[in-house]
Amino acid sequence: MTEPDLFDVETATLELARKVLAQESLDAVAYRSALGDLIKDYDRLLREMRRLIRRSDRAEREMNELNAQLQHLTEQLDHKAKHDALTEVFNRGAIFERARNHLQNGPLSVIVLDIDLFKSINDQFGHPAGDSVLQELSGRLVGTLDGVGEVGRVGGEEFVILLPARSLADAIVSAEMLRQAVADRPFAILPQRRVTASFGVSHSKTAGRFEDAYARADQALYDAKRQGRNCVVHAGA
Ligand code: GH3
Ligand code: MG
Ligand code: MG
Repeated sequence: MTEPDLFDVETATLELARKVLAQESLDAVAYRSALGDLIKDYDRLLREMRRLIRRSDRAEREMNELNAQLQHLTEQLDHKAKHDALTEVFNRGAIFERARNHLQNGPLSVIVLDIDLFKSINDQFGHPAGDSVLQELSGRLVGTLDGVGEVGRVGGEEFVILLPARSLADAIVSAEMLRQAVADRPFAILPQRRVTASFGVSHSKTAGRFEDAYARADQALYDAKRQGRNCVVHAGA
């Protein structure tokens, strides 16, 4: 059995019209009747065609909207996967991955910083105040770097800054600027309480292991804590 065709009626009318055309000796009534059928079916065909075109235009518009929504959601998801929800800087996984990529392409300086006595800020002023300090501090880091380098939050109150292709001397200068950006003016949530951070800096050559670069910067940070906090120490000092 053959499938029913959407245009069965029109096909039959067309067939009839062909037969009428092939017979030379038909009278005007037969011609008029065949022409009438043709016009009626042709009208229906046009209506149907317009309806289908409208429907397919609508479907295309809906599909474009859905695609745009999907792309937006994908970008949001990608952003969420790579950024810290509280501070909006890169999260630990993302900044480590970026560091490894940078090191494959060139030298890299790494700054690690940790807020001094942050536990006492939480204890004295509450966890939400601590959160607010983390947010303002992130903003100060990003603002001070002004597009140079990348900032990531790698632990509770510990941040990493990557300075691709920068020398150790440059990175020490940057770290000192960051230290001042934290220590030199009060935070909005704590106008009476000074907030400071300690800094460790390391430098690695192209193709170095990030684990080593990070461990050396972290050791320097530990030394900065031992030297009394609110200072910059570099690896190999
Ligand atoms: P140090 O100068 O030696 O670094 O002292 P510290 O008090 O900063 O160090 P410690 O590691 O003892 O305390 C870190 C504190 O950070 C403890 C933890 O409750 C707090 N912390 C970690 N993550 C968050 C966070 O997301 N929000 C807030 N408000 N506090 C956090
Ligand atoms: Mg700390
Ligand atoms: Mg810490």
